Amino acid sequence: MHDFTYHRPTNLADAAKALGGASEAKIIAGGMTLVPTMKQRLASPSDLIDLAGIAELKGIKLEGSTVTVGAMTTHAEVADSADVKKAIPALAGIGDPQVRHRGTIGGSISNNDPAADYPAAILGLDATIVTNKRKIKADDFFKGMFETALAGDEIVTSVSFPKPEKAGYAKFPNPASRYAMVGVMVAKTAGGVRVAVTGAGPSVFRQKDMEKALSGSFSADALKGVTVDSNGLNSDIHGAADYRAHLVGVMAGRAVAAAK
Ligand SMILES: Cc1cc2nc3c(=O)[nH]c(=O)nc-3n(C[C@H](O)[C@H](O)[C@H](O)COP(=O)(O)OP(=O)(O)OC[C@H]3O[C@@H](n4cnc5c(N)ncnc54)[C@H](O)[C@@H]3O)c2cc1C
Repeated sequence: MHDFTYHRPTNLADAAKALGGASEAKIIAGGMTLVPTMKQRLASPSDLIDLAGIAELKGIKLEGSTVTVGAMTTHAEVADSADVKKAIPALAGIGDPQVRHRGTIGGSISNNDPAADYPAAILGLDATIVTNKRKIKADDFFKGMFETALAGDEIVTSVSFPKPEKAGYAKFPNPASRYAMVGVMVAKTAGGVRVAVTGAGPSVFRQKDMEKALSGSFSADALKGVTVDSNGLNSDIHGAADYRAHLVGVMAGRAVAAAK
């Protein structure tokens, strides 16, 4: 790995200053994606800003009907949280086991891997991403493969999830990495039914035909008449586009059946 300057700020203002202070600076959260990327020399940041020393970025709060998860909260903490289990059990089931003690929600969504689980949860549950500069609705956050609405000097500080009436997540994991070949979050929210699909396309997306079908009747049966178009879906060594399209239907049905 190349040389870099390591910063460990203890507050958000210092982190933002360090991030804006060098053109090739990068935030490091759990390092689960960033460190391997640096090892492969696909990223060569001049400065690494470690968020681990900033207490205000950690933890989970349930206030009224909103669950707020700090950006540096790990997948394990989300999975184990009594508040999450009570308000949004579908979110508690989402952390991947291998890296759950280091990987963070902020790192996962900032990275926006096409096969990551959290983007589906955030889009499906109509969450709001809070940064050191603004609030971004999930519908405006995920822009494309590994691309988000975040500016280069912007830091995710937390994610707020409104408690849904019901939600469920089902994932067909890649047997080697456990990343989603296809994962579907289905939620009955105050604003209507939302269906968010990860793994199938270049970035997480909403499946509007399924949303319409489930608005009529929130049941796996209601999805039977919906055909998923394989145009634009991923085709790779793990699976062809038409196989992924088929999995979207199967996972959506399982997610609805599991919703609580
Ligand atoms: C073997 C393996 C298997 C995995 N399986 C799965 C899986 O099944 N499902 C799944 O969803 N994920 C999976 N992951 C991903 C993992 O769970 C982490 O979410 C992911 O690696 C990123 O989180 P991190 O905290 O490690 O971020 P880092 O690697 O530290 O950072 C990732 C990127 O986000 C940026 N960043 C980090 N935090 C912030 C912030 N607060 N604000 C702005 N930018 C930020 C960094 O600059 C970097 O570009 C897997 C990873 C590995 C290595």
